[in-house]
Amino acid sequence: MLVLVANLGSTSFKYRLFRMDGQGGEVVAKGGYERVEDYAAVIDDALATLQSDGVISSPDEIEAVGFKTVLGKDLSGCVNADQSVIDSLDGFAAVAPAHNPPYANGIRQFAKSLPKARLVALFETAFYQWTSPASANYAIPRSWREIGIRRYGFHGASHKFVAERSAELCGREDVAAVARRLYQNGPGEVEGAPFRVVSCHLGGSSSVTGIRNGVAIGTSMGFSPQSGLPQNNRVGDLDSGAIPYAMRTLGISLDEAERQLTKESGLLGLSGVSNDIRDVREAADSGNADARLALDALVHSIRHWIGAFLIELGGIDALVFTAGIGENSTDIRAAVCEGLEGFGLKLDTAKNASTRAVEADLSTADSAARILVIPANEELVLAREVYRKLS
Ligand code: AMP
Repeated sequence: MLVLVANLGSTSFKYRLFRMDGQGGEVVAKGGYERVEDYAAVIDDALATLQSDGVISSPDEIEAVGFKTVLGKDLSGCVNADQSVIDSLDGFAAVAPAHNPPYANGIRQFAKSLPKARLVALFETAFYQWTSPASANYAIPRSWREIGIRRYGFHGASHKFVAERSAELCGREDVAAVARRLYQNGPGEVEGAPFRVVSCHLGGSSSVTGIRNGVAIGTSMGFSPQSGLPQNNRVGDLDSGAIPYAMRTLGISLDEAERQLTKESGLLGLSGVSNDIRDVREAADSGNADARLALDALVHSIRHWIGAFLIELGGIDALVFTAGIGENSTDIRAAVCEGLEGFGLKLDTAKNASTRAVEADLSTADSAARILVIPANEELVLAREVYRKLS
C-alpha cells in the first residue's frame, strides 16, 4: 500500500511517500516546498513530480494520505479525514493558529487532487485519550470546561513512537504489541511488571510525557502548544495572573500580549539571543548570563516534569530523549540526568558525549533503568497508523 504522509505548515508543504507492508514501511520518495501560497498548486506539482520521476505511474496508485493534525475541537484519535475533521480544526483554529488552518486547507485540497485516496487524520492529541480526568482537567469554572478548555497534550506521534520503540529496545515485546495496536484496541492488558517510561521530546517545540505499558498517563503540554516546557520562542507554563498584570502595567493589548508570548518568549525571550539552542549555548559559553539562564530554565523544567511522572509511575524503566535537542544536545542530556543515580538512572558520560542523532543506550551497565536516545520518526508513525486503520 502506498501511503503519502503530508506535513503542512503555515507556508510549507513536505511529504514522504511510504510503501507499507505489514509492520514495515519504506520511504520511496520525499519532497517539499517552502513559501507556499497556493496549496493546490504545490500538491498537484508534487503528484506530477512523483509521476515524472517514475515513482508512480498514476496518482491513483496512492491509496491513502495521512495528516498529522494537531488540535481538534471535540475530536481526537485516528479518524477518517472528512468534513468533521475540518470542522474540528476550524473550531480550534484560534488556539493553534500556526497548525490548524494549513491542515484544514490541505485536507480539502487532497480530497480534490486525489479523489480516490482514503484520507486519514492522526491527531497529535490522540495519544492522551486515556489520561485520567484528574490529570486532564484544570481547576476552572464549569463554563470554561464546557467550551473545551482542558489539558490535551501534543507531540502524540513522537511520544507514541517512543512508547513502541522503547519497549522493543528493552525486550518488552508484550508492551510493544499493546502500544502498536493502541488506537485500534485501546489500552491492553500487560502481564508481569509494568513498563514505565518518561519520554522527553526536546526540539523547537518540547514536551515530557509519562507512559505506562505503552499508554500515556500525562504530559507537560496543556490546552495549547503555549504550555509546559519553555519552547523555542513560545512561553511554556505561565501563571495566568501574569497576563492581565503585564497588559495593565505595560499598557499592551491582548493581541500584543499573545504575540509576545508566542513569538518572543521561550529560549529566545529568556536569552535575548536566539530560539536555537546551539546559539544560546555558544552565548552562554562566552559568558552571557541570560543565555545561561535560558539553558538552566529549560533543564529545570524538564527535570520538574520527569520528577512528576517518576512519582506517578511509581518508578522508571527507561528515560528517553528524542527530537532535535534530545538527539543532539549532549550537555542538556547530561544536565537533565545529573544526580538521578538514586532513581536508578546512571548516565555513561563518555557514551553520552559521543552520541548524536542515532539510536543508543546511554546508561551504564549497572544502571537499573535505561537512558535511551530514540531518533524521532513521526512520519513513520503516521504511515503505520494509516496502514493499520485501513488494513
Ligand atoms: P526539531 O524541532 O526536533 O527539529 O528540533 C530543532 C531544534 O533542535 C533546533 O532549534 C535546535 O535547538 C536543536 N538542534 C538541532 N540540531 C542540533 C545539534 N546538532 N546540536 C544541538 N541542538 C540541535
